[in-house]
Amino acid sequence: MYARVIVDISHTQVDRVFEYNIPEKMNIRPGMRVRVPFGHMRDTEGIVIGLEETSEYEANKIKEIICPLDDFCALTEEQIKLASFIKQKYNTTLAAALRFMLPAQVRGGRVSVKTQTRVRLLLSGPALQRVEEGLLKKDGSVKYPRQWETLSLLKEQGELPASELNGSAVKSLEKKGAVELVRAEIARIPFQKKVIRIDDYGLTEKQKEILDRIRAGGKRFLLHGVTGSGKTEIYIRVMRDCLARGKTAILLVPEISLTPQTYTFLKQRFDEEIAVFHSGLSAGERFDEWMKVKRGKAKIVLGARSAVFAPLENLGVIIIDEEHETSYKADNYPKYTAHEIAKERCRLNDAILILGSATPQIETYFRGIRGEYEILKMPNRLFGLQLPAVDIVDMCNELKNGNRTAISGRLYDELERTLADGKQAMLFLNRRGYSTFVMCRSCGYVVKCDSCDVTMTYHKAQDILKCHYCGRTKTPETVCPECGKPHLKYFGMGTQQIEEQVKGLFPYARILRMDLDTMGNKDAHIKLFEDFAAHKADILIGTQMITKGFDFRDVTLSAILAADTMLNIPDYRSAERTFCHITQIAGRAGRKEPGTVILQTYNPMHYAVQHAKYHDYVGFYNEEIALREMAQLPPFSTYVQLQFSGQKEEQVIAAVKDFIGKLKAVLLPHKRGIISIKASEAAIKRIRDMERYHILIHLKNDEGLVGQIYTLFNQTKYVNVLTGIDINPVNMA
Ligand code: ADP
Ligand code: ZN
Repeated sequence: MYARVIVDISHTQVDRVFEYNIPEKMNIRPGMRVRVPFGHMRDTEGIVIGLEETSEYEANKIKEIICPLDDFCALTEEQIKLASFIKQKYNTTLAAALRFMLPAQVRGGRVSVKTQTRVRLLLSGPALQRVEEGLLKKDGSVKYPRQWETLSLLKEQGELPASELNGSAVKSLEKKGAVELVRAEIARIPFQKKVIRIDDYGLTEKQKEILDRIRAGGKRFLLHGVTGSGKTEIYIRVMRDCLARGKTAILLVPEISLTPQTYTFLKQRFDEEIAVFHSGLSAGERFDEWMKVKRGKAKIVLGARSAVFAPLENLGVIIIDEEHETSYKADNYPKYTAHEIAKERCRLNDAILILGSATPQIETYFRGIRGEYEILKMPNRLFGLQLPAVDIVDMCNELKNGNRTAISGRLYDELERTLADGKQAMLFLNRRGYSTFVMCRSCGYVVKCDSCDVTMTYHKAQDILKCHYCGRTKTPETVCPECGKPHLKYFGMGTQQIEEQVKGLFPYARILRMDLDTMGNKDAHIKLFEDFAAHKADILIGTQMITKGFDFRDVTLSAILAADTMLNIPDYRSAERTFCHITQIAGRAGRKEPGTVILQTYNPMHYAVQHAKYHDYVGFYNEEIALREMAQLPPFSTYVQLQFSGQKEEQVIAAVKDFIGKLKAVLLPHKRGIISIKASEAAIKRIRDMERYHILIHLKNDEGLVGQIYTLFNQTKYVNVLTGIDINPVNMA
């Protein structure tokens, strides 16, 4: 037998498979990590991706595998198939595809199982008593207090880490045969919280109906249910079905920050072990969670995007919660989406795929209507709870009335009432579109980052200017470096300004602010949400935030301060994002009692705003999809964005020009499939001293053409120019 081996997947750029002889008696299976001789280099690590009876090479030229590196298969056969799919779909190398499945910690044996020396008590009854008596003086007082103490600790616990006990006392006790030292594996556990088990709820009629439809044998579902309709309960039941049939399950959440709550929630409902996969874990934790799955100890995996690659065998279901979130698309190349990977894995395993959302992506819903997903609807909240009414405030009138703050008269009144009632409020700014910048009022000079083509943001708390792309900081000045006049002024509006305005209006209110600044480390926001849930503050101000899983009982008022900033972004999804943003925020409000949602906008009649007011997803969808069809936008067409960047602008421009020429030659016979080809500077032209240009190809839907562009793009390399490809990019600019 011969093994087909991919060598050193951490570094290979080339896409080649090598053949090796398998020495007799060596048990090699596909998916194993092996040590192999390679070229003139020293031995290297490889992965067996298949076995062959025959070889194309002469027998005496084929080298032998030195040894296997693990006693198990690091990759499953399914993962090897999935890697081929990824290679094909994103036109990447097999090595790059395999890197998704094998954490860096496993490759090269960088991290391994953590062990610990533990002290175990060996004796009991009279034997133990005899040892204890030996530690006492004649008069019954303790002669060897450290040994005595060690022994009593061990009597309570049975076994303890050696590091927690006195070394010489342990040694003496060992000599007496009372204890032994053992090396034990210990798991690095990401979350330690104790969780109390909760019994299953009785399902509502609606939940039963939905579950019956999933159990009827279909494979792909879009669960379109408003927030609070009880989707999570459906997920749990479907996962439980899978475990009962000996299968495994993956639950994806959109953000790392959501995993702790969801983990706790799952632990309340499942006795089984749950593994957590996401990039926020330490190397050791990641390794241990991965091993937990490999050894079959965990049959449920919870995590963010990358958890879709978890090495579960016998997969029964993949659930993508909040499927509309853009975080399900990778930010690095190849820019896969969790949806595409999940779909293929479910196909390979004959497993169920469930996408859940209150506001599905337009593309997803469109596919659902076409029959690619069975659409399951949960249009009502549980127990007859109403969705809150959304009040639209036309900000044009505020300006006319001389109100220059971000707080409309209507919002002021509601805030006042909310605070008087002892309730809480949440104020939202959009994630994008707002920032504070510094401009000279005499000459118009704007302070920009030296490395990036973006204005710097003023951070009042530290009194510095900061670049949100590279982190560079500057001390703010008042004298303009361009014209020398002392007229540098701070403009725009960020969460800090809002906080000041609100403080000015309601000096007695306790305010919490959540944004990039206050969210230094990964647990900071959980603490902040917990404080807010415990009513330690009256008003929470922040950019768009996912509050799922938190129970803010006292929140009766939510406000979106400026719905328009998102509408004005030049992107075909701007209406969709606006609708989604408003609906999601409204959906989180008033979970116990119907709350008030205030929406401030300069475009009160916009269809995204109007449909969001009535929580009318289908109404919005119908209008949006008609517009998309008319304007030939996705899903009726495809955008391919080719990204070029480099330190020397001439080189980047030359590469773009050259590639346009190549593209035209290749695409000429398919002229009818092409809507447009445009080259331009990126919206942010420079980031981290790299000049950035794009070619945007707008195509009619045609997988073949996309494939040709991919192939051409991958074949073409330019000196000192980095390139990347993105299909229907999340950020079109
Ligand atoms: P969604 O995911 O659709 O926003 P959830 O599944 O989180 O909604 O349900 C909202 C709340 O209702 C949760 O606190 C959940 O525990 C509770 N819940 C769900 N189903 C039931 C049920 N059948 N009986 C009682 N409580 C339920
Ligand atoms: Zn910068």
